[in-house]
Amino acid sequence: MCLFCKIINKEIPANIILEDSNFIAFHDINPKAPVHILAIPKIHVDSFNEISSELMAKMTTFIQDVAKEVNIEKSGYRVITNVGDNGGQEVKHLHFHILGGARLKWGHFADADPQGHF
Ligand code: 5GP
Ligand code: ZN
Repeated sequence: MCLFCKIINKEIPANIILEDSNFIAFHDINPKAPVHILAIPKIHVDSFNEISSELMAKMTTFIQDVAKEVNIEKSGYRVITNVGDNGGQEVKHLHFHILGGARLKWGHFADADPQGHF
């Protein structure tokens, strides 16, 4: 069973923010922003490549509810899902990073020079 499935089954503790029958949201163990939450489906889905549009529609509402729950919906936030090796996905259970609580930097990724790649 994968790491996040163990969190869903409460075999591994997590600091849970919001949960319903389809999804669970909990604090990232190694936060990269003052607010760093992971939102995941309760069924095991490997990555964004595999989620159905029906479940994604519900996931969208859940992510919006998480942002409201931690009071970042007005100040703003970022939603990221890393997909596969080039995307930097380490845990192979679909998760959306919800980052906020500060003005997040945006710009060129130093390790992905667009010149010559596209
Ligand atoms: P990825 O790199 O796959 O997009 O993101 C995986 C995220 O899971 C990372 O931000 C990492 O800090 C987080 N993470 C890894 N193991 C655990 C854990 O056991 N508990 C929690 N809450 N987060 C974890
Ligand atoms: Zn899983």
